[in-house]
Parts: sequence; structure tokens; C-alpha cells
Amino acid sequence: MKWQNWAGTVTAAPSRWYRPASVTEISGAVKAAASAGLTARAVGSGHSFTAVAATSGVAMDLSGWTGIVAADTTTGLVTVRSGTTIRALNAALDGLGLAMANLGDIDAQTIAGALSTGTHGTGSRLGGLATQAEAMELVLADGSVVSCSAAERPELFAAARVGLGALGVISAVTLRCVPAFTLAADERPMPLDEVLARFGEFAGENDHFEFYWFPYGRNALVKRNNRVPGGPVPRPMPAWRRFWEFEVMENAAFGALCRAGRAMPRLIGPLNRFSSAALSRRSYSDVSHRVFVTPRRVRFVESEYAVPRESVLDVLAELRRAVPRLADPVMFPVEVRVAAADDIWLSTAYGRDTAYIAIHQYAGLPYQGYFDAFESAAAAVGGRPHWGKLHSLDAARLRARYPRFDDFLRVRRETDPEGRFTNPYLDRVLGPP
Ligand SMILES: Cc1cc2nc3c(=O)[nH]c(=O)nc-3n(C[C@H](O)[C@H](O)[C@H](O)COP(=O)(O)OP(=O)(O)OC[C@H]3O[C@@H](n4cnc5c(N)ncnc54)[C@H](O)[C@@H]3O)c2cc1C
Repeated sequence: MKWQNWAGTVTAAPSRWYRPASVTEISGAVKAAASAGLTARAVGSGHSFTAVAATSGVAMDLSGWTGIVAADTTTGLVTVRSGTTIRALNAALDGLGLAMANLGDIDAQTIAGALSTGTHGTGSRLGGLATQAEAMELVLADGSVVSCSAAERPELFAAARVGLGALGVISAVTLRCVPAFTLAADERPMPLDEVLARFGEFAGENDHFEFYWFPYGRNALVKRNNRVPGGPVPRPMPAWRRFWEFEVMENAAFGALCRAGRAMPRLIGPLNRFSSAALSRRSYSDVSHRVFVTPRRVRFVESEYAVPRESVLDVLAELRRAVPRLADPVMFPVEVRVAAADDIWLSTAYGRDTAYIAIHQYAGLPYQGYFDAFESAAAAVGGRPHWGKLHSLDAARLRARYPRFDDFLRVRRETDPEGRFTNPYLDRVLGPP
């Protein structure tokens, strides 16, 4: 059976598929790969744009290995099987009166896939999803099952929380959740120059700040989500309005504009300015994950770099200079987010307060020139690419951007001496095992 990722940028033809439904079966699949001399990888929901999940060896589909194993509502510690999607996790946490402290834009990813590439949301005082992991259970290359946490095998824990699938198959993750909370969302268009001038203030004063900017427009859409004290949700969006705003305006109507732009590229600039001018204000409150997560049905390709927070304006200025000079116009907006420094070896926010700049292009439109220009602007400030989003860096260049890169490789050699979990993407970004 062939495998393809969500964006359609990667296909693979694994020689064998396994769908384990227990840790013993995961271990059995890893051992079977070893006996056959094949490499092995777990695949999540295929939402990485890079070939990080692709394999021609043994592919492990963990969609039969889901659900919560244990939950302590007093401490907030919840252990979940690795194939559980974030959507299913959010629903289960709702039932326990708990929530993830921070989330990205979508909930289709598996928890293990999301952690493995350093998936993040936004919030200057909060880290990415991997910072919410307290412990993990992994099946290593020899089929053994090990646990790790800050207290038990701390080096494996520092490496495996953002492990790119290189160290073993994660079978379970223990997350530190928080009591369920409500977010008040405030979204409004603002002149881009004002947003840039007030970037530090917005990032510092809001629990979750981000903005979108259509590259040919003058306006940005500023999103500020803040926690509201307990009690019932004050102002949820009615179901019909949610449908109108998220499904019709952000997906169906925007998708139609994108298709028009792809058919007639000279319209892209005007359509982009139209989209920018049509941005509108909305404010509502809802259960946290219903604010964090929105449906994304229009297919696109994406690159994202984590840059030192203090360099974000320089990179955006360079991007603004580059866009008008591109041979091919850009249909999709730029997204800018923030995160706190963390201590996870291959986390894009390792050791520094971070701003994330994500650029996108509508599927089927040329993007290489745009992505190259962005990559060189990010390189000038030591940017680190999202492991699951398009970039061209290799191990030599990544080593210079991650102080603990060689420590990660050491743990990789110890846990997987024969390179059972490698693939061509890992050979490029980490070096051959
Ligand atoms: C529409 C869209 C929106 C997105 N929004 C965001 C966002 O807001 N923030 C952000 O940071 N990223 C975002 N991403 C990127 C996405 O979160 C990551 O690429 C994530 O890794 C995808 O998870 P997945 O379950 O699809 O994993 P896959 O892409 O299938 O796999 C990712 C990696 O995880 C490994 N893996 C999966 N399961 C296991 C396991 N059990 N054990 C060990 N390794 C495993 C795979 O081998 C692979 O290396 C988005 C992507 C899309 C398409």
C-alpha cells in the first residue's frame, strides 16, 4: 500500500505495513524489520510537509493504538497511547475537566507525530507541545521497551521529546495537563506597520499572540487569545456562525479565491490585497481547544523557521523586500507566532525565546523561489527550520544551529546503533547513522 502525506509533497512505498495494537506488537514489528534487514518507521497522520515519516521499509500505522491509559485529575498527569490524535485527546480531556496548556492550529496530528517534529502553538510564556510531556515509553531498535523522564534516563528524555522518530517508536506519552480553561479570542485587522511596531508589547501582554499577513496587503490579522477565569463559557460563537466563519469564509471561499489565482496567476496580487482588505473583526470565547484549533481544508505547502525573538522584525523586513521581486506570486498569508525558550535538544526553541515565521503557498503554485528567499533571510539570524516543514538544510548546517546536536547523535548511536529507524530525510538532517 502506498503512503502519501497530507500536502501531497511526499509519497512512499513501504515494503511492509504493520498495524500494532499493543506494545508487544510494536516490539514485534521492530524485531520483524530487524530480521528482514529493513528499516522501520512509525507514521502518524501524515501532516508533515517533509519526508520525515516516509519509509521504504516497515511502516507502522498506530491508528489502532489509541486512547488514555491513565489520568490523575489532581496532578493533571495523563498517559496516552501514541497513536491518539490530538482531536481525540482533546475530547477525552474535556471529559476529565483537563486540557493541554497550549496547542497548534490543527488537531489532526497524532500525539507522537506532533511531539516528534516539535509542533508548537503560540505564547511567549509557553513552550511547544513537547514541553508538556513529562514521561515517555519507547520501543527501541532491539525491541526492548524503556521509559524515560527527567528522573529516569534523562538524556533519552531530552532527546526523544523532539526525536524525529530517530530513537525508537514512542508507545505512550505522559502529558502534564492543566484544568480545563476558557479562552477569549480577539481577532482584528490592523496595519502591518503598527503590528510590527507593537510586536514586543503584543507578544508580552497576551497569553497567545499571533498574526497573519497577506504578502501584498497592508493589513495583518492580529489574534490575541487570553485565558478567562473559571465558570461557564461567556460568549461562544453560535454553531451557524462558526460554520460560516471557519468553513465558508476561511475554507470554501478562500479555497475558491486560491483556485482562481492558480488558474490566472496575474490575479494573485489583487486577490491577495482583496483578502487582506476583507479581514474582519471577531471576538468570542470558547473551550480552549475550540479556539486554538481551526479546520484547514485548503491544501498548501509550508516552510517555517524559528528565529531568535529579537530578530523577527529583521527577517520580516527582508521577506517584505523579497516578495515583490519574486518571479511567481504568493497566494497564502505569512503566520507569525512566539514561544518561550526550552531545554529539549532538538526543539526549535532550544535555549532561546523564539518567534516562528511560517510561509505558505497554495498547493500547485510554484513556491521554490519564495521559500529559498525566506530560508536565506532566516539563515542570516541562525533560524532553525521546523522539522516537519519544507527546508533544505543538512546535518552540517543544522549542527551549527543546535548546541546539543552531537549529544542527540550520541543518544541515537546508543539506542539505534544499526540505523533501524533511519530514512533518507534523517540521513540528510542528522547524517547517516
Ligand atoms: C494543515 C497543517 C497545520 C499544521 N499546523 C501546525 C502548527 O500549528 N504548529 C506546528 O508546529 N506544526 C503544524 N503542522 C505540522 C505538524 O504538526 C507536524 O508535521 C506533525 O509532526 C504532524 O504529525 P503527524 O501525526 O501527522 O505525524 P507524521 O507527519 O506522520 O510524522 C511526523 C514524525 O513523527 C514520527 N512519528 C509518528 N509517530 C511516532 C511514534 N509513535 N514514535 C516515534 N515517532 C513517531 C514519524 O516517524 C515522523 O518522523 C501543521 C501541518 C499541517 C498539514
